[in-house]
Amino acid sequence: MIPAPAILRHRPRVCIIGGGIVGASAALFLAMGGAEVTLFERDRIGSHASGVNFGGVRRHARLAGDLPLSARAHHIWHRLPELLGHDCDLETPGHLKLAETEDQMAVLEAWLPIGRNAGMDVRLLGRAELARRFPWLGGNVAGGSFCTGDGFANPRLVAPAFARAARRHGATIHEICPVRALTPRAGGGWRLDPEGHPQCEADHVILATGAWPLGPDPVPAIRVQAPQMFVTEPVPMLHMPVLGLVSGAIYLRQSVRGNLIFGGGHGIIAPDGRRSRPDSAVFSRTPALLQRLLPGCAGAAIIRSWTGIEAHMPDGLPMLGPSPSAAGLFHAWGFCGHGFQTGPGVGEVLAELILTGQTSTDLSAYDPARFGAAPVRAAHPPVPAMESRT
Ligand SMILES: Cc1cc2nc3c(=O)[nH]c(=O)nc-3n(C[C@H](O)[C@H](O)[C@H](O)COP(=O)(O)OP(=O)(O)OC[C@H]3O[C@@H](n4cnc5c(N)ncnc54)[C@H](O)[C@@H]3O)c2cc1C
Repeated sequence: MIPAPAILRHRPRVCIIGGGIVGASAALFLAMGGAEVTLFERDRIGSHASGVNFGGVRRHARLAGDLPLSARAHHIWHRLPELLGHDCDLETPGHLKLAETEDQMAVLEAWLPIGRNAGMDVRLLGRAELARRFPWLGGNVAGGSFCTGDGFANPRLVAPAFARAARRHGATIHEICPVRALTPRAGGGWRLDPEGHPQCEADHVILATGAWPLGPDPVPAIRVQAPQMFVTEPVPMLHMPVLGLVSGAIYLRQSVRGNLIFGGGHGIIAPDGRRSRPDSAVFSRTPALLQRLLPGCAGAAIIRSWTGIEAHMPDGLPMLGPSPSAAGLFHAWGFCGHGFQTGPGVGEVLAELILTGQTSTDLSAYDPARFGAAPVRAAHPPVPAMESRT
């Protein structure tokens, strides 16, 4: 529970490094709670993963340790009109995860009690029921798992809308302003050196730097990749849920204007690690991917392809919570292929931690100390063979 501003005895100064959905939502919830907030973004707000992702707002088939935060975020997504003055094009037609083999079907079955224990309405659909309800699906699908209430939003809108709302609540937001150094101050707190900007002092610093770790703590072996996305010309409305294969080969949704938006394969990351671009070899494989899932749309013209950069942690979960080594420093990065959905929940949890010293959401799966100096281990073993984004 975040206190009303008047209850705070001391107005904490918080600097946030990174203006994706995580940094921008933290800025809003902290400013609403009465903190003095300054956010530094190296490029433009929402110009990296948060603004170019698939748009999936999905609790379905997440790792068990991720579900408390995902549930919290789920409620915030439905409060966007009240918080931001805009629903960010949120639609909730449900999410359908599809198996092409009996082994993959067993993976979906194994997740069912996990989802139900977390309060989700999720059920298995056999081949015949799928064919009856979704006659446009490809014939090689063996079955699926359907989760009501999941859906998608427009990623281009969300982080900028959080940043605008944060500004309205008094936050200061600097764009094109990379933070080059972060130094602890002798008497407590932190000093930041943003490029082209005077030094800035803060009681608390949030590292919301996405795929680009920063700060004094050790960084585990992360895998950085650039999922490739596509959009087609509009096709007739199929009134479909968000679709994804268990293998992760393709994930797909239809926009309210009829375009198919889908992902599959990975693009190429530039040597500086900050930019990425589509791979033409992946592009040439897309008709076959569409044929596999939606044969009737395999000929739809692709009008654009793009990529974005994300970091995958060894156990598929982000680094989120207080630094194990430095007071006043908070990790909130490495959100892998599923941080868009949890993003608003992360912002609210960080505000709660900084303003009250505790949070009602179980963050144990994300402990920034969990890798330590020891060999990498999974705090919450993943459900086998389930691709994380789809
Ligand atoms: C193509 C693609 C598809 C995806 N699809 C989905 C999906 O459907 N559903 C889902 O839930 N998730 C999805 N994801 C994952 C999701 O987009 C990310 O997990 C989420 O956006 C992470 O948000 P973030 O704010 O942590 O990171 P980012 O959006 O990457 O923001 C981090 C920001 O920090 C800034 N920064 C870094 N270093 C500094 C510095 N030193 N100084 C100042 N600023 C700095 C960067 O410029 C960047 O803007 C997808 C990701 C990609 C790339």
